[in-house]
Amino acid sequence: MNHLHRIDGRLFLEEVSLEDLAREYGTPLYVYSQAALTESFQSYERALAGLPHLICYAVKANGNLAILQHFARLGAGFDIVSGGELARVIKAGGQASKIVFSGVGKTEPEMRAALDVGIRCFNVESESELARLSRLAKEMGKIAPVSFRVNPDVDPKTHPYISTGLKQNKFGIPIDQAPKLYLQAADLPGIEVVGVDCHIGSQLIDLAPIADALDRVLNLVDALKSLGIELRHIDIGGGIGIRYRDETPPDMAAYRDILISRFKGRSQEIIVEPGRSLVGNAGLLLTRVEYVKSGDSKNFVVVDAAMNDLMRPALYDAFHDIVPVLDSGDLGMTCDVVGPVCETGDFIGLERSLAVKEGSLLAVLSAGAYGMSMSSNYNSRPRAAEVLLNKNEIRLIRERESIEGLMAGEWLVY
Ligand SMILES: *Cc1c(COP(=O)(O)O)cnc(C)c1O
Repeated sequence: MNHLHRIDGRLFLEEVSLEDLAREYGTPLYVYSQAALTESFQSYERALAGLPHLICYAVKANGNLAILQHFARLGAGFDIVSGGELARVIKAGGQASKIVFSGVGKTEPEMRAALDVGIRCFNVESESELARLSRLAKEMGKIAPVSFRVNPDVDPKTHPYISTGLKQNKFGIPIDQAPKLYLQAADLPGIEVVGVDCHIGSQLIDLAPIADALDRVLNLVDALKSLGIELRHIDIGGGIGIRYRDETPPDMAAYRDILISRFKGRSQEIIVEPGRSLVGNAGLLLTRVEYVKSGDSKNFVVVDAAMNDLMRPALYDAFHDIVPVLDSGDLGMTCDVVGPVCETGDFIGLERSLAVKEGSLLAVLSAGAYGMSMSSNYNSRPRAAEVLLNKNEIRLIRERESIEGLMAGEWLVY
């Protein structure tokens, strides 16, 4: 993670001591670096410089209003997957004209809301969705800008749960069926065909599948042109991986080379939808050790964060580095770092080497993406607070949920 450093053994993010943060805001606490957010956004800007482009931040990675607002300030567009995300982006000051709407299951109210504010594009995933959108747009007297999400049948070589571009996945339309659908769409009322999109998966460490998918999409774009259908943009999806442990994420210069070589001489705008790579390494989860349990065969460090706060280890067996906030210099012991939730799958990290005692603080790194946004209230645990740091300035961007808040909206029947 960038902007993470130690002074006299104590861990700081930007200019703020994590010990001080825990004392002031409690734990578990999500902590984000604004400088890291800005830098990751700018690395995409550099990769796309000189090409017509729009970077649409994938809101599902982390939808906190302040984070959306920061990206909007930097000029970002947004990739949304629900009406809830649409409302967040608008509330945070995002421009409707820079929003693309992805997802296989858009409901009528969601489509209406998006037509109402005038988003840039609906990424349509099926013939039925196209028919519904056409009907609604006509009813409302609007024209829906449409791109089709095509499935290029490329193996992204990532975790099966986050692979989306294979034939067996629920996403998109098979690329060989696309021309038929484009021709159909061209004649539908309320529909304007503007682009194509493709998203083959997340946490992509290898650039080859990205290049491969892009080549297949560009072949389609050329085939469509010969059918008289000219597209204004090509959306290449999200998915650049980040370093959690020892991965070597794609080099942005090599990523740029792929784009330059493919888009040279083309007039279409490139849209990218990065999520994880914009926020993942800008955030960490701060947690306190409640108990140290030394068993016969295993040591357990029970912390106050759990799978409801950070689901990725339980869901994907994902690895997050865990480091002590105060480095004692001791060697430590091998232990499993687990939460208090009643599930064996409730772990933050297994077989780690850590020198901790009860009351110690730990930082779970690279937790900015799909951390808070996937959190739940399982075991009736109030969700964590979030703070955004800017140098030595601390902004609380989400209050810790209260026990009272947990039960809001529920009713007794006697
Ligand atoms: C999840 C998703 C993204 C973002 O993926 P990252 O790996 O976080 O960059 C982009 N586009 C679509 C359609 C998605 O579903």
